[in-house]
This record gives sequence, structure tokens and C-alpha cells, in this order.
Amino acid sequence: MSDTEEQNQTARKAEPYQNEPHTDFSRAENREAFAAALKDVEGQLGREYPLVIEGKAVSSRKSIVSLNPSHKTQTVGTVTAATVDHAEQAIETARRAFEQWRKVEASHRSEYLELIAAEMRNRRFELAAWMVYECGKPWAEADGDVAEAIDFCTYYALQMRLLDEPVQCDYPGEENSYFYQPRGVVVVISPWNFPLAILTGMTVAALVTGNAVIMKPAEQSSVIAAKLFEMIRDAGIPDGVVTYLPGVGEEIGPALVESPDVDLIAFTGSREVGLLINQQAADNPPSQTHVKKVIAEMGGKNAIIVDEDADLDEAVQGVVGSAFGFAGQKCSACSRVIVLEPAYDPFLKRLKGATESLQFGPAEQPGTTIGPVIDEDALLRINDYIAIGLDESRPIVATDAGELVQEGFYVGPHVFADVEPECRLAQNEIFGPVVAVLRARDLDEAFEIANSADYALTGGMYSRSPKNLARARAELRVGNLYLNRPITGALVQRHPFGGYQMSGIGSKAGGHDYLLQFLIPIAVSENTLRRGFAPPPDDDKT
Ligand code: NAD
Repeated sequence: MSDTEEQNQTARKAEPYQNEPHTDFSRAENREAFAAALKDVEGQLGREYPLVIEGKAVSSRKSIVSLNPSHKTQTVGTVTAATVDHAEQAIETARRAFEQWRKVEASHRSEYLELIAAEMRNRRFELAAWMVYECGKPWAEADGDVAEAIDFCTYYALQMRLLDEPVQCDYPGEENSYFYQPRGVVVVISPWNFPLAILTGMTVAALVTGNAVIMKPAEQSSVIAAKLFEMIRDAGIPDGVVTYLPGVGEEIGPALVESPDVDLIAFTGSREVGLLINQQAADNPPSQTHVKKVIAEMGGKNAIIVDEDADLDEAVQGVVGSAFGFAGQKCSACSRVIVLEPAYDPFLKRLKGATESLQFGPAEQPGTTIGPVIDEDALLRINDYIAIGLDESRPIVATDAGELVQEGFYVGPHVFADVEPECRLAQNEIFGPVVAVLRARDLDEAFEIANSADYALTGGMYSRSPKNLARARAELRVGNLYLNRPITGALVQRHPFGGYQMSGIGSKAGGHDYLLQFLIPIAVSENTLRRGFAPPPDDDKT
């Protein structure tokens, strides 16, 4: 390590990590700049994006047409869909590229991530605008997505520098070091709901730890993934180290997951697909000489408990933000509210008023808080749950999407009261703007209901009682617990994110130990006692 790098490293360690600030849209100049970016990106819609293997653009006859969920006749882009042959080529290429990439110094790999982050800052509103069009993200949500992607780059760059220092545990006559080496080829399979942040997080974690990466983005967000790939390429990362492999999950997924040449699968998405991948990856074909590792971040059925003494103004605001931000399409979204009996009726009344005041419409409009859902399949699935809710419980908000349904994939916000804990509305992940409100006699019952789902991702409680808040810490089974605040919006490092039970396997994204999953720890022990002097052959002659 050079002196300058050493000085930089000491300076970095001394400074606390800073998250990328979110844009302040109350400032006119930011609103104007964002509107200009939307206009600019609108002019670029409808282009074609090939997949890229070893730096070469590859087309095939099959493609994925990415539509704007706010205006379903508008094509955001057409992306080449990879075949199984392409997947096999990508793995072969990644295997070769890995042998060189693993030799690049960790500090140098960290610098690549910082270059990607810098480019994201330069293109911040443009990237957010792509997400408004491709995924129907409202402005602030799209902006937060870019900020999180930047955070993953800067935080993992920093963490890798720290991990790169071998840990010595020497004794007289014995040198012992502990260090890490990369695993090999990592397949990254990502969802559409944080189209830039999650794909970036998994990809750069694999890259900075010295692995070669095959990026398989979700079908619905393959254009924004192409933008990430552009930035990776522009940062100068050698061809082949990252492959951009858009395609249909069911078609190319098994070829990627089952390949004996893949070492790790980093997946974020539904429970159904995550469990399938875990099962497929566990099968060892005869030519495979290692056991594959799977990191899977899956779904949630997240609850907020409203205690009888809670500040209802805050609780309502927290529930509404957590339930309806990005139309409830966050794995962390609140989809159950468990209210203690004494607070039940006043809470419901205020929740109804607050939900009805939300602006519902196309994502590109600056005032929109609830935009469309991602696609036709999601719309049909969510509407099925709404039908169940209408049948089995009491709707207190049932917003009709009206004429918007001709235009895009719109589902209005819905709140159902008096939902029974065992009913599908209270047990299944809906992933849309639908909230179930359940009544609890006391705190024991509230905790029992909250813990009755298969998932354990996020959860929260609003209460003024320190004793009850302490009980929540001890008794609520979730990976991320939020007290007296919304349950979405995790920030890198401050709120490392991830769940257990059916919500995930692996440590938390944006946490200090996340990168370890992409590495193999090695311990070397050398006996350094002299055992005779063995001069090199040339010295023999003198
Ligand atoms: P999904 O499971 O349908 O798809 C995720 C990815 O898996 C996509 O790239 C898809 O193409 C791919 N895929 C589909 N079938 C496959 C197969 N057989 N083999 C390999 N890959 C396959 O999920 P989604 O609809 O994109 O995302 C929504 C889900 O993601 C929700 O359940 C949500 O809770 C979850 N999610 C979890 C987190 C978390 O951190 N825990 C974060 C975001 C989203």
C-alpha cells in the first residue's frame, strides 16, 4: 500500500460514514431540474438494449418490452432476452474474467465503486427519471432509490478497504494471518421494486470482493439495469467481469442457478422464487467441486402495533407512509396494523381521513404519492385480494381507480378493518396498496398476532410506554424493528436491512458484515523458527 493510500485510509476510518442526502423537492430549482430530466428521458424512450457478454453486444430474436406502468401503451425500451446458451456463455466468460479480476488490489476495486457512485451523482435525476417511467416510482421514491444505490457503492468500498487488512495473531516462532479471498462467479438476480438500488447493492458487493458477476435484472426493470451496466463499463471495469444478462427468470434462471461453475447466487425477490433457487442450488452435479452459497432476501408481511397510549397523529402518519409509499410495493411495507382496543376507533377514523387525502395518479406528476402498480399480473393479483377483503372484512377506504385503469396499471388505496388474524389478507404478502387493520385486546394478543405470519422482515410499534417498547424489542420477531417511526426507508449503515424466517437467508444489506458472504476466509500459519539456512541455487556458486 502506498503512503498516500495509507494516509487516505487512516482519514477514512476517522470520518463517520455519510449517507447520500435525499433531494429537497421543496426547492424550486430541484423541481425544475427533475422536470427537465423527465422531459429529456421521455425523448429517449423506446430504444433497444442488447445484452452484453464480454463487452460485446449480443442480440437474439427474443426480447422483453418494458412498459411504463403509468401509461401502459408507452414503451420504455426493448431489451434482448437471453437464452440458455447466452447464460452458459456468460458463465464461461465470467469464469475467465474472474482469474484476472481477483488479482486486482482491493483498494483499486474500491476505487471503481467510488467512480460508479460519482457517475450516479452526475446522472442522479436522469436515473431517477428512468425509474419514474419504467417502474412508476413517484419522484421522491425514485430519488431515494438513486441515493441508496450511491450509498451501497460508497459504503461497500469503505468496508472492503477495512476487510483487506489481514488480521495477525502471531506468537514467537509462528506467524498467523487471517484474510479473505473471493468466491468466484456470482449470479445476481434482482427484483424490480428497487430497480437501481438493490441491483447495484448486490452487484457492487460481489465486485468489490473480487468476484465476477452475472447481472440478471427483473424483466420489468431491465432498462434501468442497462443504465447501471453503462456506468459500470464507463468506470473502466474490464470486459467480462460484469455481464448484463436480462432475460425471463423461469427460462434462464435454472441454467444460472444449477451451473457447476457458479459459486454464489445473490437473490432478492419473492419467497416462492427464493426457496426454489435455494433448493436448486443445493443439488450438487457430479462435476461441481464446491457447495454453492445462496443469499436470498425475500418477502414480508409487516405489522405496526398501535398501543393504547400511542400518539395517534404520529401513528397515522407512520402507517400511511409505510403502507402506501410506492403503492405498497416495498418488501418493508406495512400491510397489517394491529391496534389496541382503546385506540381502535379513533385510529381508524384518522387513518381513513389520511388515506383518502393521498394523491393517486401517474408517477411523473410531482404531487403523486400513490402511483400505479408494476404490471397487469400485479394488478390482477392485488384486485383478487381486494375482492377477498370486500368479502371477508369491512372496507373503510376502497378507492376506485376509475378511468385511470384505461391508462395504466392502477389500484386505488384500500384499508380493511376488523380483519381476522388467520385470514389471507392478514397472512399473505399482497405487495400493493392494501392494508389490513386488526383489533387486539391487549399487548400479549398484539404480539401474538404480529408474530403469527411466516415472515420476519420489518415491524414496528407506536407507544409512549418505555416498558411496552422494551417488550417489543424482546418479543417481536422481525429483522428490522422500528419504534415510534415508519417501518420503511432503511438507510445503508444506519439501518442494515434484512429478515429471517421466510423473509430471508443471509446477513443484512448495507450492514458491516454483508460483504463477508461474498468472501472465503483463509487462515495461514507459518512456523518461522530457523531450521537451517537454505540459500537459493545461484548463491551456491559463490
Ligand atoms: P420475483 O421473485 O418474481 O422476481 C425476482 C427475480 O427473480 C427476477 O429477476 C425474476 O426474473 C427472477 N426469477 C423468476 N423466476 C426465477 C427462477 N425460476 N429462477 C431464477 N430467477 C427467477 O420478485 P419480484 O416480483 O421481482 O419482486 C417482488 C418480491 O421481492 C416481493 O416478494 C418482495 O417482498 C421481495 N423483495 C424483498 C426484498 C428484501 O430485501 N427482503 C427487497 C425487495 C423485494
